[in-house]
Amino acid sequence: MPQPQNKKNEPEIIKTVDLYKRREKIYTRAFEGFHRNLRNYGGALLFLIYFGTVWVNWGDRQAVLWDLSTRQFYIFGETFLPQDFILLSWMLIICAFGLFFITVLAGRVWCGYTCPQSVFTWVFMWVEKITEGDRNKRMRLDKAPMSATKFTRKLAKHILWLLISLAVAITFVGYFTPIRELTGDLITAQASAWAVFWVGFFTLATYGNAGWLREQVCIYMCPYARFQSVMYDRDTLTVHYDATRGEPRGPRKRSADPKELGIGDCIDCNLCVHVCPTDIDIRDGLQYECISCGACVDACNGIMDKMNYDRGLIRYTSEGELDGSKPNLLRPRLIAYFIALCVMTGLFVFTLTQRTVLEFEVLRDRQGLYTTNSQGLVENIYTLKLVNKSQQPHTLTISVSGIKGATLRGETRVTLEPGSVASLPVRLAVSPDALTGPKTNIVFHADNDSTDGPAAETESRFLSPNLSPPIRSDQ
Ligand code: SF4
Ligand code: SF4
Repeated sequence: MPQPQNKKNEPEIIKTVDLYKRREKIYTRAFEGFHRNLRNYGGALLFLIYFGTVWVNWGDRQAVLWDLSTRQFYIFGETFLPQDFILLSWMLIICAFGLFFITVLAGRVWCGYTCPQSVFTWVFMWVEKITEGDRNKRMRLDKAPMSATKFTRKLAKHILWLLISLAVAITFVGYFTPIRELTGDLITAQASAWAVFWVGFFTLATYGNAGWLREQVCIYMCPYARFQSVMYDRDTLTVHYDATRGEPRGPRKRSADPKELGIGDCIDCNLCVHVCPTDIDIRDGLQYECISCGACVDACNGIMDKMNYDRGLIRYTSEGELDGSKPNLLRPRLIAYFIALCVMTGLFVFTLTQRTVLEFEVLRDRQGLYTTNSQGLVENIYTLKLVNKSQQPHTLTISVSGIKGATLRGETRVTLEPGSVASLPVRLAVSPDALTGPKTNIVFHADNDSTDGPAAETESRFLSPNLSPPIRSDQ
């Protein structure tokens, strides 16, 4: 095969470029500062919510339980049934708008502070630090040949990672199946195959994502990371390096005056790179790998303090502010998201407060409008649907008002267990004397035996032959 040649008829050198880049392990350095504390306290609160809502009881049941087997969802003493799913969709829409709003306002703070991937990764990094030591020790340990110390440290790290992952997985599955029964069944090896599968799956997912994949989840796998950059504008708060102040960078003695040396405030210590969980250099400008965690802000502020320089060489700021513009909160997109968020939240809260614990619905029989029975009474057939969304049983008596002398036949007294649904077929028989037209408005009542228990009523219609003047049995 002839070799390709360039314009000067010289043989062209063909180079193969490998597009696959092997991942280089990131060894983050420990640091202290305001943003680290914020993440630690925020993370502790999130863990409290995550574990607490499943392990702590509210009444006689765990605080949050999405019981898939019975299709009933218990949230802080309230029972939600599949009929309430609209509320869940509503909640998800509110979360989406909340996320859009916060992204336009402050970039990827969700990623840096509250995303489960980040929160668990920080916990796993802390475990790594207590078992293998700080950055330099970990680097040396990885380079060293296998020894009893290395094996013990690595083993301790992986055992702790797996134990944390197991606790996270059991708790997660506990949102969908009663946690105490689940743990009892797991300990006595009586758990169902599906329960074991899901606990195993989430254990491995947590261990793999937070222990091994880490920043790769944020950089390559997370869809939110991909589309959120299009939501940024010039006034979005993100982590920036103030190049005007920091450049030209360079080392110097602490006592040296950078102005005399003609250099900026960056001493080129690289600490901001060493603390970064995604291993980027923020001094190269805003990059899609940055999760706005603020680690580099804390690290650089520590250096600025030591050098007696002003803090904020790396800080949360906007591109506009760096260029000298004033902060601008009144941006159309931000206002639109804020209004949408407030409206959706307001409607959600209103719907929630209007929600009754006893649902009562009356469905007319579609087969026939009415019948006349052997006693000459006009009859209509209805199906009464009652849903008890409370956590107590209720005994209800059904009655009708709106027509004089109407007789209700069928199951007119029912005891509803918590979260149960009853469907009662009933017949309403009325003397033609009591009817004044082909349609009569009536009201079905579901009265509770307990005076302080929930009761309900709902309107319906009674249909009869279209006779005018009013039907009389003696005519
Ligand atoms: S931590 Fe601050 S001073 Fe050190 S290299 Fe980064 S920007 Fe420069
Ligand atoms: S550049 Fe700074 S804020 Fe961004 S991920 Fe790295 S440490 Fe966090």
